[in-house]
Amino acid sequence: MDSTPQRYIQSFAVGCAAPLVATDIVLPEGPLLRCPECGQRVSQCDEAQYVRALERFDTSEGTLPAAHARTRRDQLGTRCLRRILTLLGKQPQEVRLLDVGCSSGALLMTARALGLAAEGVEPSAEAAATARRAGLKVFTGFLAAARFPDAAFDAVILMEVIEHLRDPRAILAECRRILKPGGILLVTTPNAASWTASVMGARWEGFSLTAMGGHVSFFDPASIRVIAERTGFETVRIDTRSVRFFERGQCPAAVYAVAKIGSELLNWPARRCGKGHDMLAYLRRPLDGQDMRPPRRT
Ligand SMILES: [Zn+2]
Repeated sequence: MDSTPQRYIQSFAVGCAAPLVATDIVLPEGPLLRCPECGQRVSQCDEAQYVRALERFDTSEGTLPAAHARTRRDQLGTRCLRRILTLLGKQPQEVRLLDVGCSSGALLMTARALGLAAEGVEPSAEAAATARRAGLKVFTGFLAAARFPDAAFDAVILMEVIEHLRDPRAILAECRRILKPGGILLVTTPNAASWTASVMGARWEGFSLTAMGGHVSFFDPASIRVIAERTGFETVRIDTRSVRFFERGQCPAAVYAVAKIGSELLNWPARRCGKGHDMLAYLRRPLDGQDMRPPRRT
């Protein structure tokens, strides 16, 4: 009997039929695989490797960014929330928002400060407990287990979640169910077609199984549009931002400083071309009667 551990992701869960092919990006788990139909990349890790990568982040801090990145993350959160309000055409007080994978609640705090009714779902028990100690309403567990009623939320956020999942279609379908018709789903995830990914390849943290707790599925603007359509969402807009050539500690400090200046200069054209490595996709559940064709089954 073959005792080789099975790949955690056997085929791309977006629903393409084509077999995955190897890319020239070679990770510790093996070459990154790519769907020739939609461009989605997936890791070759096995289940045990995946579980180990997740365990590191079951802490009270959860997946919160390091201190040097927090202010930037808070500013980004505010911008995202304001964008959602604009797309909904609603005042903050009219909006009920769910942050799926809310960690210890940084974005929920920002949302509450803006006046939204915000709550979260978080599978890491320690991170969820930290959020509740701060007075936030957070369910410990996965989204489906929370059993929210249909059409319960005006907005749902999946921030840096879908790259961790074997079956991203399932969570998008659940988000669609709990969103009101016309509601907005914000999905953020690393952009595998970014300049950063092209230049850094296997050195990029976005492709690392271990750097941020179990990255296994890598989207780009094209595959986001595909999965949105197949789960019954309309893609409203996709923004990308940021360019990087080295991760901290991968090169001498002086080289890092020069590379950082270069990447700042490229930030604007990267945004214009959709080549930034932080990707933000705003998807809408169509209004009743304007539904797109039902999701394709495979
Ligand atoms: Zn595909």
